[in-house]
Amino acid sequence: MGVKGTAGRSGPSAKAGRWLTPASGFLAGYSHTLNPYVGCAFGCSYCYVRRMPVALFRGEEWGSWADAKRHAPESLKREIAAAKRKGPVTIFMASATDPYQPLESTERLTRSLLAVMAEPDARPDALFVQTRSPLVMRDADVLARLRDAGVALLVSVTVETDRDDIRCALTPSAPPLAARLRALRELRDRGLPTQAAVSPVLPCTEAFARRLREVVDRVTIDSFAMGDGSGGKRSERLGMGEALARLGLAAWYEPEAWRPVYDSLCAEFGADRVFVSQEGFLPPAPSRILHTEENR
Ligand code: SF4
Repeated sequence: MGVKGTAGRSGPSAKAGRWLTPASGFLAGYSHTLNPYVGCAFGCSYCYVRRMPVALFRGEEWGSWADAKRHAPESLKREIAAAKRKGPVTIFMASATDPYQPLESTERLTRSLLAVMAEPDARPDALFVQTRSPLVMRDADVLARLRDAGVALLVSVTVETDRDDIRCALTPSAPPLAARLRALRELRDRGLPTQAAVSPVLPCTEAFARRLREVVDRVTIDSFAMGDGSGGKRSERLGMGEALARLGLAAWYEPEAWRPVYDSLCAEFGADRVFVSQEGFLPPAPSRILHTEENR
């Protein structure tokens, strides 16, 4: 399926608009969310954004389109400065898209926003970057600048399984798992605070926890029922139980199916490095982040 994308955010055609949105619900611990794109080319089967107004009004299949927002990246500086006058600015990027869309490889919009946030007068207090794309590696330099400037940073890469057949069945447009694991390892080796987000946990092998431990120091786990913001109702409406049943894996949809994986993660990482559901997505704070260099 081809993915349509549009852009053109700078210059005379740039629209006035806001980058920051007040956070709520699952992300209520943050002051703001930041979504550089509208839509998402990864089109995961379990993505509940596909049932939200932004997707429904568009009337096109979720996963078939992604648009770069048209505001000037520089305007983020003013928004952060204004928000900081009211209190700490803690940003979750991104809640309704992936900031490392395929379109980002040419648009470099997420990179531009990170560069703005690395400037002295525009730094947020905390920044959580959530992606499933190894493209995040490209921005290791600007992420390191943010870290070095004292921004509490966490780069979280979704790895829901170690089975590529499951990825192909449920998230076929998402980047290959091996590339995500490589990205996590490289980010960690550059001293960036990272986590693997097993969110939602999908059918995986017994070696999954060990494979993650080889590339990352912190992990969070979530399930359809815990993590969809509705106690599982959204996942139900998306037919995730049926999707797993068609694969002969209905048991993985049971509410407690995540626990054996959690136990194996605890055995590999230690329980203090394994987070569950919302606690794995709280705003990063220096005391909460495991700094690789310090732990070696
Ligand atoms: S990457 Fe995230 S926003 Fe994009 S389709 Fe998947 S779950 Fe939804």
